[in-house]
Amino acid sequence: MGQQTIAMLRFGVIWSSLAGVLAVALPVVTQAVADEPSSAAKESILVDANFPSGNVMVDAIVGDTVTLHQDLRDTAGDWFYWHFRVRGAAGRTLRFCFRDSNPIGTRGPAASFDGGLTWSWLGTNAVKGKTFTCAFPAASSEARLCFGIPYLESNLKGFLKRHQRDPRLKVETLCKTPKGRRVELLRLGRLDGKAKECVVLTCRHHACEMMASYSLEGIMEAVLAGDEGRGLREQVELFVVPFMDKDGVEEGDQGKNRKPHDHNRDYDGESRYASVRAVRKLISGRLGQRQIALALDMHCPHIRGPRNEVIYFVGGPEEENWARVGALGKVLEAVQRGPLQYRANDNLPFGQAWNNQQGPPRSFGRWTAVQPNVRIGTTIEIPYANVGETTVTPENARAFGHDLVRAMAKCFLPATGSAP
Ligand SMILES: [Zn+2]
Repeated sequence: MGQQTIAMLRFGVIWSSLAGVLAVALPVVTQAVADEPSSAAKESILVDANFPSGNVMVDAIVGDTVTLHQDLRDTAGDWFYWHFRVRGAAGRTLRFCFRDSNPIGTRGPAASFDGGLTWSWLGTNAVKGKTFTCAFPAASSEARLCFGIPYLESNLKGFLKRHQRDPRLKVETLCKTPKGRRVELLRLGRLDGKAKECVVLTCRHHACEMMASYSLEGIMEAVLAGDEGRGLREQVELFVVPFMDKDGVEEGDQGKNRKPHDHNRDYDGESRYASVRAVRKLISGRLGQRQIALALDMHCPHIRGPRNEVIYFVGGPEEENWARVGALGKVLEAVQRGPLQYRANDNLPFGQAWNNQQGPPRSFGRWTAVQPNVRIGTTIEIPYANVGETTVTPENARAFGHDLVRAMAKCFLPATGSAP
């Protein structure tokens, strides 16, 4: 039994007497183990979240059925991120029943049977309501199941290692998090300080929005090594903060709607979060005298539904800025080649749907839109699991990043196109 085991549930004669106690006790359980006296040959099933980006609350394991729910922590209201590890299930088929809201996305859960290295969607055939079924391969000693396909610091480290000898990439530290983690600031492209145009990219203001990170990685790989990025890497300097809420990403927080407000509602007054303070200083201080062609914050939308299965830019009330976003979007629509299709008509103008935040600018997109050295300040939403009929994968999300680079090159390089 693991040293981290908090509860051991021995189902059988004591189950009914325990049930009343468990209903109260289990919300604090992060790992549960089931021994099945009736089938001694079967291994104990362990379900836990004790690894980077893990998130689950196990309510019960009875036979082949695991009842669980996502760990909301300091989230105001409900959200849908979860990510757990299963051991002792090799060769078995288990049912996972979510106790509370339905946190299963439009392509079912994502699964990894090699300890989190490679992932695929289980698909909707595995799903019924808020329950899904997973058959664990006989050789899988450790599986991971997640709402989406995780992207955390270890993924970024892999990317940086692949490009570590590239002179057009520099890794700096933006700041430290409250828990002592490093928030990376990457500089890419023309690094001698003479680039006429800069681009600032941020991601994971909302910790759980992992699929956007693959598109960000696609942008970076195209800028460093792709044909479509050649002009940008020679003439533009990019500043990239891959994890605005690094603690939240690594600890498996929802991040969205964190109390008292989340990282993307922290751009007004005195910022609460060190990374937000540092980004504001970067844009208005270090880059204060330079031209920022684009300040783009990359997100994933809500779990499912009409607004959440398309890629779109989010508008603010500044009409000129929004017109420039629209022009960039038109170019993107024209130059894109990847499987994830963006349509400029899907953009969300200010005042529509959820996009009606009143008062002073509090989000990165709204705040950057009113900075004097920023030409386009905005937010892009990239769905977790499907764009129209197309299933989102790490590969095609990266390809969308390449498409964004095509659009930036066309819009921001005077030699190849006109500025929007
Ligand atoms: Zn978001």
